[in-house]
Amino acid sequence: MTKQISEEYYQIGNFVDVITLGQSEPAHKYTTIDGWKGFRFCCPICGDRDRGKKATIFPRMTRSETGSNYLRWHYLCKGHPTCEASGLHSLEYAVRKYFPTYSWFVE
Ligand SMILES: [Zn+2]
Repeated sequence: MTKQISEEYYQIGNFVDVITLGQSEPAHKYTTIDGWKGFRFCCPICGDRDRGKKATIFPRMTRSETGSNYLRWHYLCKGHPTCEASGLHSLEYAVRKYFPTYSWFVE
């Protein structure tokens, strides 16, 4: 794992801790189908606490326009169907839209 990716994991781990603060169960890490570590937790937008961990933040290796590979992070809520955050979003988008006070991702 490169230094940059380790830093991303660290920052995103902190972000997950903040958005799940006060929930009865802590977030946990899981392994994605392509072998990266993601975070699984109760979506703080729909507050889907009783029915288990229904939101994930996970990376996918993506090729940039300049041809280099980087990890692109996503926010996926599979909780309540009416959740504002339901579905798949880029993490940058999700932070800007749903967690605007948490701005590490947004310059
Ligand atoms: Zn949700």
